[in-house]
Amino acid sequence: MKLAELFTAYPYALGKEQKTPVLTRLLQELTVHHQTACARYGRILASLPGATATGNPLADIPMLPVRLFKLLDLKSVEDAAIIKTLTSSGTTSQLVSRIFLDKETALLQTKALSSIICSFVGKQRLPMILVDSPDVIADRASYSARGAGLQGLSFFGRDHLHLLDTEMQIRHQAFEQFLARHAGERILIFGFTYMIWQYFYAAFAQHHLAAELDKAMLIHSGGWKKLHQEAVDNHTFKERIGTVLGIRNIANFYGMVEQVGSIYMECPEGVLHAPDFAHIIVRDPATLVPLPPGQQGLVQTLSALPHSYPGHSLLTEDLGTIHGEDDCPCGRKGVYFSIQGRLPAAELRGCSDTHAFGGRS
Ligand SMILES: [Zn+2]
Repeated sequence: MKLAELFTAYPYALGKEQKTPVLTRLLQELTVHHQTACARYGRILASLPGATATGNPLADIPMLPVRLFKLLDLKSVEDAAIIKTLTSSGTTSQLVSRIFLDKETALLQTKALSSIICSFVGKQRLPMILVDSPDVIADRASYSARGAGLQGLSFFGRDHLHLLDTEMQIRHQAFEQFLARHAGERILIFGFTYMIWQYFYAAFAQHHLAAELDKAMLIHSGGWKKLHQEAVDNHTFKERIGTVLGIRNIANFYGMVEQVGSIYMECPEGVLHAPDFAHIIVRDPATLVPLPPGQQGLVQTLSALPHSYPGHSLLTEDLGTIHGEDDCPCGRKGVYFSIQGRLPAAELRGCSDTHAFGGRS
């Protein structure tokens, strides 16, 4: 099975027995490709201590700490082949990731994102509300990490409405006109989790306004840190938005700028799903041994998409829990999981780099 064959209209088709050999081969090929094409990556792999096989071929794929992309430029193509450089958000005091894309990887990302989004939304382009201001779009670079995949998402809609003005106020008149234009139609709404909460939901709730967006699907992504500080979890988020804005079809997704295209969408059961071309492993933060379902640990993301940079196997700084594989009641195959937040900075420093580079237990 070739990589392109994994981008089907339903990218959650492969059970473990089918998926493991296909994905393992694709990822092993990527390891070899990056070893040859990226001298820095080759040197890092060569410096790894020998490791015992875990018995799970996917867990034996070497991994890089995602932080490394903030420290080093890692690319597996000639500079002339780079068509786009993605950067993560960051203040001046923070380092940003730099991810180098060639035509092939950018195309794979678009195809992957398209197969995932279309499997949830349908193939038809829907009228789309973007919960941001035109300003934010102009300053997209600073938002790319908060919503990996955002840049591509507007392609899945039409007649786009930027809901907010430059003061982050709702453009009520434009909103009313948009709803009148698309009365009775399905609508797609997209935005960063916190912006939807702060500038869309809160504005309506404060003024005791209500919306009836019962034909809308809301897709959102970005960190939960600020919402958790306000004691808002995913369940509360959905419940409040359903009550005030009338939106019942709500899906969060998890993703990162270092693996754009490989997004993990939330199904109606409230868990995040790995598509056929990606996989999740949860590891003990101290020993990096893979953990069984139900135990919280550091999330490793595997993706068959990154060809122009060695980002096919990354150890993130996010804490998550796998809940099961292939048997979610929604019918989607693959691992399903949830994210609980970030590993505290102090514990992160406790993770020795040797371990982090090792990628094996
Ligand atoms: Zn599911």
